Amino acid sequence: MSENEINPENQEQEKQNLEQKTLNDEQKAQPNFTQFKLNKQLFSAIEQAGYQSPTPIQLKAIPLILDGHDVLGIAQTGTGKTAAFVIPIVMKIKFAQSQHPRALILAPTRELALQITEEVKKLTAFTDLRHVCLYGGIGAKTQIETIEKGVDIVIATPGRFMDIYLTGNLVVKELKIMVLDEADRMMDMGFMPQINSILEVVPRKRQNLLFSATMSARITKLTENFLEFPLRVEVTPQATPAQTVTHFLYHVPNFKTKINLIGLLLHNEVFDKVIIFAKTKENAENIYKFIHRKIDKNVRVIHANKGQNTRINAMEEFKKSDIRILVATDVATRGIDVSMVSHVINFDVPFIHEDYVHRIGRTGRASQEGIAITFCNKAELYHVEKIEKLIKTKIEVKQLPENLHIEETPYEENQAMLLDIDYQKRKENPDFKGAFHEKKKENQKPEKKKFDPNKKTTNPRGFRRKK
Ligand code: ADP
Ligand code: MG
Repeated sequence: MSENEINPENQEQEKQNLEQKTLNDEQKAQPNFTQFKLNKQLFSAIEQAGYQSPTPIQLKAIPLILDGHDVLGIAQTGTGKTAAFVIPIVMKIKFAQSQHPRALILAPTRELALQITEEVKKLTAFTDLRHVCLYGGIGAKTQIETIEKGVDIVIATPGRFMDIYLTGNLVVKELKIMVLDEADRMMDMGFMPQINSILEVVPRKRQNLLFSATMSARITKLTENFLEFPLRVEVTPQATPAQTVTHFLYHVPNFKTKINLIGLLLHNEVFDKVIIFAKTKENAENIYKFIHRKIDKNVRVIHANKGQNTRINAMEEFKKSDIRILVATDVATRGIDVSMVSHVINFDVPFIHEDYVHRIGRTGRASQEGIAITFCNKAELYHVEKIEKLIKTKIEVKQLPENLHIEETPYEENQAMLLDIDYQKRKENPDFKGAFHEKKKENQKPEKKKFDPNKKTTNPRGFRRKK
């Protein structure tokens, strides 16, 4: 008697288990878009976009959205959140239908709205679906004309959306799906009132999606207002930088030496697509001028003072790799996708620590490898420690290149750094009396601060003394 006959059932079961296991392993190794219930038009578009397998957030969110749930999606920057909602939206609304839009996607900035629009364009390429992107800074006429021709998907910044709605040119009664993208950023930028007024005018019965790179108390609050029985999908603990990024830092004593270091690094050809982040417009301009004059004409700069079109053009050129280096402040770039950035350089350590995560989210996007380099002076060390705590990783320190020319720190710059350090110490320990401030106090006239009992002002608590 063969074993088969002894225990045929067991063996069959084992064989099935084995098959199941292999199938699972394969699926795990290579998840595939074909596992979603999508149509031919979408599969073609996904293929044309070059997406071979869904990213983790897409894997989790797409089926839930297709099933009609309200979804709260949390995943770090660069993990493909846009397609995670655009794919199911395209699937749900399928063809061009009426005059009026059925999907509304809100984004905090024009750059982000434009970027989502690119994704929508890609993913609707094989359908007749119509879309429009509404953002401020330019006239509304063309945007309204596009709406009048009939649209299915509206991508908009909250302010411009409301402006156009109030002109009566945008009918919202057929909206079925609404997305708040980069919700954390929306909150940061104070869009809550606009969002609330939008929620008052859109139909009550609709599917809501909310995406954010970070989770906070404010997002939770927003979730309660906006989502109904939401399912939460989260693929990485919040504030974790993309895993495909190698990051390290240099201790650099001052601005001029930082500039020299930029010079040295950029002469290296491996740095073929670089974003340099600066903390202020002034720093950004200075870095840009230096690079343009001394290193490479293939450079652009974007910050809040740059006009709308200049910013868009710079982003476009950088995306297409027409330019090699982009100098930017955080305001101009948060959430912006620039695929395949080779290096992110933090010329200044971001003092809004979450920005570190957002900045290095520019590199190593969707499983591309990237390198993030941070320049840190003595006053910025404090922030590096905070960042390390936030990302739960020690950032490796590298030796400065031997051929780097180290400049003397100018008196003013040194004073400014000492002042910062004092401030940091006092923040950590309110009793701390910094050397820097002690000296300053000696010169102050103490009488000025003396309490004057006859003065007729209310005290800080607002009580008045009874007569
Ligand atoms: P997020 O909104 O999470 O910051 P994006 O939606 O901007 O990320 O996507 C980041 C980049 O990854 C984009 O260039 C996008 O085209 C690309 N991408 C998205 N999904 C995939 C995928 N499944 N495979 C490969 N690349 C993808
Ligand atoms: Mg995004």
